[in-house]
Amino acid sequence: MKIGIYPGSFDPVTLGHLDIISRAVKVFDHLIVAVMVNPQKHCSFTAEERITLIREAVQDDNIEVVAFDGLLADYAKMRQATAIVKGLRALSDFEYEFQMALTNKKLNPMLDTLFLATSAEYMFLSSSMVKQVASFGGDISAFVPPSILQEIQERLSRRSFDGNTGNRRGLS
Ligand code: ADP
Repeated sequence: MKIGIYPGSFDPVTLGHLDIISRAVKVFDHLIVAVMVNPQKHCSFTAEERITLIREAVQDDNIEVVAFDGLLADYAKMRQATAIVKGLRALSDFEYEFQMALTNKKLNPMLDTLFLATSAEYMFLSSSMVKQVASFGGDISAFVPPSILQEIQERLSRRSFDGNTGNRRGLS
């Protein structure tokens, strides 16, 4: 069985992430969406919330959503995964992702990294953009799936979108 892992913060999950998930699951028999729990990185949504949102948006027995902290290369070995899946939006994503791919390969020689190019319509889309737009009361319906739109809107309206500074910035 071919197992792939798609890691990320998913804070919150967007249509860009879901596009990568639906394409990656065609390449593997089983896809593990690994939601990173990193206490150092402040997220707007808790790990449980991020996992629940993905589970609500994705209904496929071949997709598993898990919380993950630690070394991805070790987790991949434990789960017998052969590849990490990454989405690439722009050249600016590439340098860091390339470095990570080489590091993970060194740590776990059985592990490859599969880069999927973003679909053109999601090239601009990131979780932080969704949070910025929502924080100003903007319409995020083109960025997240309809099934979880209201949940995301409600949670973000109760919270500041920028967990690091608490500031509203960017689109103002
Ligand atoms: P971000 O905050 O950048 O959206 P994540 O850590 O949640 O970051 O992203 C997880 C993975 O999904 C990364 O490989 C990232 O490049 C990819 N990704 C995020 N948004 C998109 C998108 N719009 N199109 C393609 N890939 C994406």
